[in-house]
Amino acid sequence: MASTIRRRARSPEVKNCTHKFDDAAEDPRLRFFGNVNIDTPSQNPDAVTLPLSSLLQHYTHLLFSTGCTVPLLHPALPPSAYCVPALSLVHWYTQHPSRSPTPPLDKISHVTLIGQGNVSLDIARMLLTPPSELAKYDVPTPVLDVLAQSAVEHVSIVGRRGPFQAAFTTKELREMMNLTDASMVSLDPAALEPSDGAALTRQQSRTLQLLQKGSKNKPGSTRKTWSLDFFRSPTGLVLPSEPASSVRPPAHLTLAHTMLDPSMRAVPTGETSTLPTSLVVTSLGHRAEPSAPWYDPALGHLRTLGGRVLDAAGRTVRNVYASGWAAVGARGVLAGTMMDAYAVADTILRDAFPGEDVKTVPVGDVDVGAGARTGGTEADGEDVLPRTAEGEGPPVEVEKAWREGRVTDYADWRAINAEEVRRGREKGKERERMAWEEARAFLAPR
Ligand code: NAP
Repeated sequence: MASTIRRRARSPEVKNCTHKFDDAAEDPRLRFFGNVNIDTPSQNPDAVTLPLSSLLQHYTHLLFSTGCTVPLLHPALPPSAYCVPALSLVHWYTQHPSRSPTPPLDKISHVTLIGQGNVSLDIARMLLTPPSELAKYDVPTPVLDVLAQSAVEHVSIVGRRGPFQAAFTTKELREMMNLTDASMVSLDPAALEPSDGAALTRQQSRTLQLLQKGSKNKPGSTRKTWSLDFFRSPTGLVLPSEPASSVRPPAHLTLAHTMLDPSMRAVPTGETSTLPTSLVVTSLGHRAEPSAPWYDPALGHLRTLGGRVLDAAGRTVRNVYASGWAAVGARGVLAGTMMDAYAVADTILRDAFPGEDVKTVPVGDVDVGAGARTGGTEADGEDVLPRTAEGEGPPVEVEKAWREGRVTDYADWRAINAEEVRRGREKGKERERMAWEEARAFLAPR
């Protein structure tokens, strides 16, 4: 039900987030409608698509917490059978209703991930962890079956900059180092020298220590391996001309060698190399849905100030708010996104009850993101929402789809959660996730 797969027991942050959501959902004033897409059609044909204009008459306040759902693509690497965005793999291994294709892992020996963020490391761990270890957690059985047939032996994680600029966090890197059945290929010690001689931050020092120590399994001691390929930027992918057989012939990824310019940007050195690989996965980050109203293409997310949405002229759109990645872009970890949500909730309350002492939780010194930190004002705003809503409840389209079982409510969510945990218990795992069709069949008839 969550968007990522857990390969370990639930972290305290995830537990905290789930409990907060449950607390809010117990309030009878909250109604949850799942499987509804606003404006953009979903890849799930059962989903309900509702124009934003239909919502507007029914509510006096609107908060976008729609995240960043569109993967950034690389201009030199158009999607093909040999090149997929990371989101396609993540959707496959989480059984997301978008029905992403199953990767032909039984024919793939070498995977190249472009980008060195946490999503890349998540995918690498998924490909390199023995399925018997994953089986305890919430990885769906059909996914485990495909992973059990996987021919993947090496995962290259390619970054256009160096180890001190890599986007992954040390926690995720440590998990890579501790993989039980894979080892990291030794790094060139020259790659671990800070190029500008500047003092390292705490995070950079920790990364350096981990990289110097290397993986728990020494190179050469395991069949499966992985590498961090720093200072490489893709320039193209030459697809094979031979037809695929039991193991598909490799494509050839061309890479420009890079170095850092004074502003820490990657620039080509003039040298190039070629990497034979059976699958390229682009993992370059995400942006918000560009057709969303008040989306700013230059930012890649909604135009906001202090959690309030702004129109193209920079005026506040009265009573319309955004929080998390929809407001500030795809960065930061769960705790920061939650604190941003609390801060925006406080802004909504302050706007609704000016002069009153209203606050959800103290923000403290957690990084709440630029959206919630900065000012913004309701004065001189543009109105798109009514001051009083038309009747009680959601638009008729939503009520109708709810009766047809296409829209899910919180009771459905809880029922599926309990059933997934029950099915998991029978198999000795944390949960057995249901695909959308299974969940729908389980819930019917309402
Ligand atoms: P990300 O952290 O923004 O990393 C994107 C990577 O792609 C960077 O290495 C970036 O390199 C590279 N890149 C971008 N454009 C490129 C280009 N044109 N050519 C070559 N490389 C390019 O994105 P993400 O991995 O999708 O993660 C998004 C957010 O989710 C992050 O805040 C992450 O921490 C969070 N997340 C957290 C977890 C967790 O806590 N377990 C799991 C998943 C995601 P440059 O730095 O050079 O631009």
